[in-house]
Amino acid sequence: MDKSTVNIKGYDIDVYSLNTVIVGTGAAGLNAADSLYNLGQTDIAIVTEGINMGTSRNTGSDKQTYYKLTVSGDTPDSVKEMADTLFSGGSMHGDIALAEASLSAKSFYKLVDIGVPFPHNKYGEYIGYKTDHDPRNRATSAGPLTSKFMTEKLEVQVKNKGIKIFDGYLVIGILTDGDSEGKRSTGLIAVNMDEMNGKNMGFTLFNCTNIIYAAGGPAGMYKTSVYPESQTGASGIAFEAGAKGINLTESQYGIASIKFRWNLSGTYQQVLPRYVSTDKDGNDEKEFLEEYFENPGKMLDAIFLKGYQWPFDPRKVDGFGSSIIDILVFNEIQNKGRRVYLDFMQNLSWGSKDGEIDFSILSGEAYVYLKNSKVLFGKPIDRLAKMNQPAIDLYTGNGIDLYKEYLEIAVCAQHNNGGLMGNSWWESNLRNFFPVGEVNGTFGVYRPGGSALNSTQVGSFRAAQYIKHNYKREPENIDRFIEVSKKQLEDKLDIALDVMQSAGEESNIFEIRNRALERMSRYGAHIRTLQGCIEGIAECAGDINTFTDSVKIGSASELPDVFRTYDILVSQYVYLYAIKEYIEKGGRSRGSYLVRDENGRLPMEGLSEDFRFSLDDGAFSDRAFEVELDNSKGTLDVKVSCNNVRPVPVEDNWFENVWNDYRNDKIVK
Ligand SMILES: Cc1cc2nc3c(=O)[nH]c(=O)nc-3n(C[C@H](O)[C@H](O)[C@H](O)COP(=O)(O)OP(=O)(O)OC[C@H]3O[C@@H](n4cnc5c(N)ncnc54)[C@H](O)[C@@H]3O)c2cc1C
Repeated sequence: MDKSTVNIKGYDIDVYSLNTVIVGTGAAGLNAADSLYNLGQTDIAIVTEGINMGTSRNTGSDKQTYYKLTVSGDTPDSVKEMADTLFSGGSMHGDIALAEASLSAKSFYKLVDIGVPFPHNKYGEYIGYKTDHDPRNRATSAGPLTSKFMTEKLEVQVKNKGIKIFDGYLVIGILTDGDSEGKRSTGLIAVNMDEMNGKNMGFTLFNCTNIIYAAGGPAGMYKTSVYPESQTGASGIAFEAGAKGINLTESQYGIASIKFRWNLSGTYQQVLPRYVSTDKDGNDEKEFLEEYFENPGKMLDAIFLKGYQWPFDPRKVDGFGSSIIDILVFNEIQNKGRRVYLDFMQNLSWGSKDGEIDFSILSGEAYVYLKNSKVLFGKPIDRLAKMNQPAIDLYTGNGIDLYKEYLEIAVCAQHNNGGLMGNSWWESNLRNFFPVGEVNGTFGVYRPGGSALNSTQVGSFRAAQYIKHNYKREPENIDRFIEVSKKQLEDKLDIALDVMQSAGEESNIFEIRNRALERMSRYGAHIRTLQGCIEGIAECAGDINTFTDSVKIGSASELPDVFRTYDILVSQYVYLYAIKEYIEKGGRSRGSYLVRDENGRLPMEGLSEDFRFSLDDGAFSDRAFEVELDNSKGTLDVKVSCNNVRPVPVEDNWFENVWNDYRNDKIVK
């Protein structure tokens, strides 16, 4: 890696030149760096806004799942079968599904080797269990913090190798050569957040042949979110640079606590907590679910089932299914302007006598489960203590005492199946740019639980392999690099300089951001209407077009949040556009969202017309929506196309033939 300094607009700016920059230190970014180094490409560095930031490092769940090929017992499994499972989720490319499956065992055993504590039996079998959308027992877990362990162990590998980490650098722009045919990425603009008050506002350039972009999901778009607060995402600048998005409509949402962000799945629901809502100030408390259910048994069953049917799923709405709970929670919050809580201290009154639940009104499934767990007694908190004490301790450790207080909840964004488009080597349409991990739109409509973590490892390795074989060349000569990048850098500097004119005034950046987040949770989350999208897009465009005029900041240290907010606005614009197109083309409710259909049915009486819906019949499962932003003329044009997905390839795996190609370096192409 070489370092030089250039002067642009009177600012001295450091430029680092190297073969590959990896953006992000989640499970994907760290593995990309480690893999590149192992493969022999050592002219690399990692740039991250914070080594301890991001989803992988800061999230978890009851039993955080890692999906892999079956490697234990007598359950038959194969690469092809696993690929078929992934592909059957709908709208996913088959060659990507095959790569995810092919490299699953390799990726998993690497994690085992570096010390992630996945459990095995005394003969060394890495046993598994069944997760959602999983016909086998392919899931495993290292406990509630699987992804955290992954980042910790991968970080050790990266540090042992002495790979340079630019920690505290926020990437604010992706540089390109501007070539309309075969446009490629040429580097990055970042700000060193320790130097925001310095002479050049922390501006730093990276001149690199390749970028592995492991910036995580676009978490910062939503107000109600169970992504960790330290994860904002950086998809907006990738769209700005010309990277296409795919399946942006497909995200996952579910009920989570919002003061401390945590999925309320599993035992939190199975113990039948009391759902209550209040007005904004905490008054007028009521058990709102009872207004909607036919009888208390059905209400309790729906709550119970939410435990293992955690993500909102429109197929589980009818007949008082578990996903009706998400709709009713959303209805209280968004339509009635109330707040919703889980109370573990008391039982719901409807279905109880003298404060004790009448368990005999439960369905067989719920009753047997609770009976076998020996919890047919007491209050929700007593049942939780008996079934899963760590679930209580987790909240205590985060300052919430479930014995004494209510837990505020919402239906939260949790994962993006879609994202930036990549091919089966994870390279974007923007050449030399490799989105990996959650920022890559690997998946389609449904995916098995835990496959996101498998994907962080597979995609990052595939990108590293491709770069090592095909893109070894040195970065551009510095003069040429500056010639190509100057205007793009000046545009970013201008944003900073424009906004800096307000320095000293009372900041409004979080007010602007907050308004945007509320918009996305209202229009672009699990309940969607065409009209809502159209309004959301118009509001978003307004915010983008007036951005630098309306933002006020106290000092330069707020510039990173200015750039993050801008990124969120651009991401929202593109995502809402994709949702609008899907609905306009006749797309209906599927995955983890409900689309208003005026010819559909209401989930239950008494709900607003916004919830009238019909289920998708698989009409778009063999196609994927691709989206491309063109803002070169400042007009925020978005092109959308709906293309057939590629099937799972059927390869001629005759050993001699593959070996021959392999020896002649014809594989990684
Ligand atoms: C509550 C919850 C539970 C989950 N449970 C599961 C599960 O059980 N199984 C499963 O498979 N998946 C699960 N997921 C999803 C999974 O955790 C994520 O998809 C995965 O961890 C993402 O890893 P990543 O490396 O792609 O991104 P992240 O871990 O989010 O890392 C992104 C990195 O990029 C950095 N970054 C971002 N923007 C910039 C920028 N502009 N400049 C510099 N750096 C930047 C961040 O700081 C961070 O270091 C869960 C997610 C949540 C929220």
